[in-house]
Amino acid sequence: MIPFLDLRAQYEALKDEILPAVAGVFESTQFILGREVAAFEEEFADYCGTKHCVAVNTGTSSLHLALMALGIGPGDEVVTTPMTFVATAAAIAYTGATPVFADVDPRSYTLDPALIEARITPATKAILPVHLYGQCADMEPILAIAEKHGLPVIEDACQAHGARCNGRRAGSMGRAGCFSFYPGKNLGAFGEGGALTTDDDSLAEAARAMRDWGQKGKYNHVMPGFNYRMDGVQGAILRIKLRRLDAWTEARRENAAHYVRGLAGLDCTAPQTMPWADRHVFHVFPLLVADRAALGAALSAREIQNGIHYPTPVHLLGAYEHLGYKRGDFPVAESIADRELSLPMFAELTQEQIDTVCRAVGEALEGK
Ligand SMILES: *Cc1c(COP(=O)(O)O)cnc(C)c1O
Repeated sequence: MIPFLDLRAQYEALKDEILPAVAGVFESTQFILGREVAAFEEEFADYCGTKHCVAVNTGTSSLHLALMALGIGPGDEVVTTPMTFVATAAAIAYTGATPVFADVDPRSYTLDPALIEARITPATKAILPVHLYGQCADMEPILAIAEKHGLPVIEDACQAHGARCNGRRAGSMGRAGCFSFYPGKNLGAFGEGGALTTDDDSLAEAARAMRDWGQKGKYNHVMPGFNYRMDGVQGAILRIKLRRLDAWTEARRENAAHYVRGLAGLDCTAPQTMPWADRHVFHVFPLLVADRAALGAALSAREIQNGIHYPTPVHLLGAYEHLGYKRGDFPVAESIADRELSLPMFAELTQEQIDTVCRAVGEALEGK
């Protein structure tokens, strides 16, 4: 069996460090926020090259807080991509604003800068690109369009810890960067977790207050508030794992390169690393094929786990039916969603396992 993701390998390798760190949090009784979370915030801000990091309970919360801190609410519009996990659009909807989609680039699968301006109206209050599958969106033109229209950019970097775009880190290019530490992400907690990064002092201050009931001093609730705090144990575990992130990322990148070599010449589209993406971190290894169901079944029959990210673009999901989109509105996103199949991808995957997967893909595509 070749798993899609193996979280046990990481745990086994770090157990001797993690268990005493978790015990330390228990002994301190700093179960929520506390020293470990504060230290993680400093270390993660440093890693991303931002002035501030505000640790929260999920990636979705980090997106919600970034939008709230920018004052986005009912009647406002936020331009984003339909080719993403539903949480990107959900966070916009939480504020009462409307997600407005623009199609993606057919090579990078990220928000196509050439299609953004047509979607901007007087109600637009932000642009929210997603660094999908671990590859940064084409940020330079996106930032230029945002500046021209006086709009802030919020980066959904939930799949892109440590990714770079023309030398700049994911989460450091827009007004705010939003990260998830869901266990399956490149930097995963042992439970839920998330963080907001920013250089903006007042945005950081507002997000910090809003994650803890909008308090400025105990019981002095001065703004909308939420219970979005990070647990102490997650802070302690993330500090340990952050030190390994670059080594794990290099392993993912080598695995991706090995896949690309092994799949060359087959009737499928392997992910392209774009010229602006000088560090793709391969959260997912997405393959595009004509008959995704047949390939998925053939791999499963050989005990090679596989996934789909994502079968339905957000504009066609039942939850967003009321926005009035229909099939054909975003043909590039729809075509990717129809053909995408994700192959096993994690740092500890071996070259032999990748060779086995590539052989199975080749045989399935040739109908053997
Ligand atoms: C995982 C993810 C989120 C949400 O993060 P959670 O921690 O699960 O709330 C948001 N956007 C994208 C692109 C994601 O992959």
